[in-house]
Amino acid sequence: MALGGAAGAMVDLGPGPGEGPAAVGGQGWRRPARALRRGGRGLLDLLLPPQCLRCRAAVDVPGRLCAECWREVDFLGPPLCEGCGRPFDFHLGSAARCIACLRRPPSYGRARAVLRYDDASRGLILGFKHGDRTESAGAFGGWMARAGAELLREADLLVPVPLHRWRLLSRRYNQSALLARRLARISGVPYAPDLLRRLRATPSQGGLDARERRRNVRGAFGVAPGQGPRLAGLRVLLIDDVLTTGATVEACARCLLAAGAGGVDVLTLARVVRPESDRL
Ligand SMILES: [Zn+2]
Ligand SMILES: [Zn+2]
Repeated sequence: MALGGAAGAMVDLGPGPGEGPAAVGGQGWRRPARALRRGGRGLLDLLLPPQCLRCRAAVDVPGRLCAECWREVDFLGPPLCEGCGRPFDFHLGSAARCIACLRRPPSYGRARAVLRYDDASRGLILGFKHGDRTESAGAFGGWMARAGAELLREADLLVPVPLHRWRLLSRRYNQSALLARRLARISGVPYAPDLLRRLRATPSQGGLDARERRRNVRGAFGVAPGQGPRLAGLRVLLIDDVLTTGATVEACARCLLAAGAGGVDVLTLARVVRPESDRL
């Protein structure tokens, strides 16, 4: 737990490195607007009844889905592939792996996700990713802590998948870092938002097949200078919002292992579940 003290101190201090404009070359001028927006939302929360995270219908408690959305969204659970966490239709034994993991074993140990990424969950995720609905991070972090309880118990360090700083500028926050920070608060596992870096801006992965995605992110990540020795032997839990083909987390896991991490697991809010034939 070489990073315990320093990272623990980061946990409650507003937007940290890699999470918002403060991390990208002195763009602190955006901070007041952000704070005001937050303040306004806090006031609204007092005046308005809590809303469903997905459809904004009234709910009893903030940070919940209404009963209808709860039914529509697919929460993933066992039986799962022991490797990538792909859901199985029937139980094949606790160590069973899907065909894709057998043919091309991932560098990471296990990947787990809360939700199936599909028509029902897309709006929920995209609102958080692009739509400034950052208040959802609280609820999502709680869901991820439950879905990834086993991974969190074994983790020494939480590391979010980084955005390239240009994308961070246009989006203003890294949604994966918000999730990692929330998980750090819940679990007490330290997190290191600046440990992984995007070395180059990668074109959007949308529309690319699995092979193209692997090529797209190859060599795109690096461990921040001087951080390698602190990583030695640690079990890292990599945090991202959506796992699509797994190419991004695979590239990150390779990079962390090459830098000395003892192991890497992956926890995401959602994952795409493709037919096996598309994933090979
Ligand atoms: Zn709803
Ligand atoms: Zn698998």
